[in-house]
Amino acid sequence: MRPIRIGIIGFGKIAREQHVPSIAGYPRFELAATGSRGGNGQPGVPCFADHRAMIRDAELDAVAICTPPSVRYEIARDCLEAGLHCLLEKPPGVSLGEVEELARIAGAREMTLFTTWHTQANPAVGAAAKLLAGERIASMEVIWHEDVRKWHPGQDWIWEPGGFGVFDPGINALSIVAQILPGALFVRDAELTYPANKQSPIAAELSFASPASDGALTASFDWRHSGGEAWTIDIRTEAGRHVRLLDGGGRLEVDGAPRPVEGAGEYPALYGQFLDLIDERRSHVDLRPLRLVADAFLVGRRTATEPFED
Ligand code: NAP
Repeated sequence: MRPIRIGIIGFGKIAREQHVPSIAGYPRFELAATGSRGGNGQPGVPCFADHRAMIRDAELDAVAICTPPSVRYEIARDCLEAGLHCLLEKPPGVSLGEVEELARIAGAREMTLFTTWHTQANPAVGAAAKLLAGERIASMEVIWHEDVRKWHPGQDWIWEPGGFGVFDPGINALSIVAQILPGALFVRDAELTYPANKQSPIAAELSFASPASDGALTASFDWRHSGGEAWTIDIRTEAGRHVRLLDGGGRLEVDGAPRPVEGAGEYPALYGQFLDLIDERRSHVDLRPLRLVADAFLVGRRTATEPFED
């Protein structure tokens, strides 16, 4: 069978660390091009400074778009219109409207559009969803605290409008919560803390409502946390079960005891799903995490804090 020739557009941290090895793990994919404006692609693979030249000359079947989200829509639209299947890094865009438009284009052309949420691909997340199905939720506490200097060194785009600020990691937590909570989730209240010199928040405190719960549902995102990450989701059911996801969805505890789960790993699982979607010429478009972030900005109160210098 002819390999699926795939290009990676936006060749930064996540492209190098996760996409390249995951693509290499599937013989059905061939990494045929990289896109980097500065020519910093993968050694031995043709590199294009402009995605339109890549579309024209690289004879691709598919692309993975790993740029910052603010430029993803135009690139993805050009790729879909050229007949290329598209995998989008998270978040899939900077507005719900542009991702909905991409889904429409993909549907009309019978191309695959895959909005990935890598933390959802953890097997512990699927196991937690099964445990919580049909339950009433007594409480949920999400803690997503990390050091922005450690995880986003020199990434100025995250502070710009459309850069998401602390929601760049926080949306990972929301993608898990959207997947495992047995019912719809709405943002009720949001306190957004902005450094005086930045356009995006450095911290956010959220509270939610859900038809599956009468209890407190909260999330705390904070980028001012040095000395190790805290990426945990604690959920207690009215029936008395305690479901805890740790390490960003990588580990599951049930009633205080570790619950081992096995799987391919986040990015290998995503590329396996991408292959299935391409084979079936289907799309998978999950807007729930982006909608929760958009709603947090809609209902949020803004407070200012001291300027942030990288
Ligand atoms: P990054 O290291 O800044 O890489 C993004 C790359 O995109 C840059 O190397 C840059 O390459 C290119 N780029 C930047 N601005 C561009 C523009 N205006 N137009 C076209 N290309 C542009 O960022 P990253 O950490 O890899 O994150 C990229 C995406 O992956 C984000 O949406 C992020 O949320 C997601 N993600 C990141 C991580 C992580 O741990 N870092 C984890 C999961 C998901 P050139 O300058 O060479 O063109």
